Amino acid sequence: MSERRVAIVTGASRGIGRAIALRLAQDGRHVVGVARSEGPLSELVSDIEAAGGSATAKTCDMSDFDAVAQLVEGVAEEFGRLDILVNNAGITRDNLLMRMSDDEWDSVIDTNLKAVFVACRAACRPMMRGKFGRVVNIASTSGLVGNSGQANYAAAKAGLTGLTKTIAREVGKKNITANCIAPGFIQTDMTKDLPSSVLDQIRGAISTKDLGNPEDIAACVSYVSSDDAGYLTGQTIAVDGGMTMC
Ligand code: NDP
Repeated sequence: MSERRVAIVTGASRGIGRAIALRLAQDGRHVVGVARSEGPLSELVSDIEAAGGSATAKTCDMSDFDAVAQLVEGVAEEFGRLDILVNNAGITRDNLLMRMSDDEWDSVIDTNLKAVFVACRAACRPMMRGKFGRVVNIASTSGLVGNSGQANYAAAKAGLTGLTKTIAREVGKKNITANCIAPGFIQTDMTKDLPSSVLDQIRGAISTKDLGNPEDIAACVSYVSSDDAGYLTGQTIAVDGGMTMC
């Protein structure tokens, strides 16, 4: 059995997920980094080990629900425990509502919402067995206030907040917490193609007047997933430079 707390971080190959994985490894967790791309995951593991941390890479497509359940159950079995689950993997398929195809809707709901349900369901049992659990779901301010062109994405992210509150209510007495973190605009591949005129508009709407960094989200995940955060549950914390304040 692993002596370190074991943390699964999905979407760990780049962006926010990679920063979360590095941060949790710094915090002394054994990090299981999950994504579809093997190369960037191996690099992540090397970087964590070079810094004195401990990590494993697992490839998994989060839209393959059987594979997601097997992944979570397999990690709990391999390491003898599962303490932290960070559901961060996410995609966008933007389009205006009137033009949005069923496929654009389904793919975003599958990866951003149903995969999280499947992973959380599989994680509950080992967390209950270990009498400790921290579920952290990466939502979005789009799910809090909506965003033109993102009916699918906003619905999935809003769905995460309801799912997370329900988990918090169902398993709170087992020392398992569940929270959402809702990033605003963070500099990653997901936002790198926004036109500069749009970026200027976005900066204007942010109190701190700039986009955030993946490390800003990782710092919040670090606290929410810590032993100290046992009385924080069912919350959605917007880390958005004061853009929404809701
Ligand atoms: P990126 O596009 O930079 O990274 C997405 C990550 O998710 C990658 O590691 C990717 O890995 C993984 N991923 C995507 N689809 C799958 C899949 N089917 N199976 C497994 N892994 C998958 O995104 P960000 O880092 O910007 O975003 C991370 C999270 O934060 C997402 O949930 C996003 O919705 C949320 N968010 C981001 C914001 C931003 O401004 N950047 C704002 C609000 C929320 P691979 O391709 O190797 O599978």
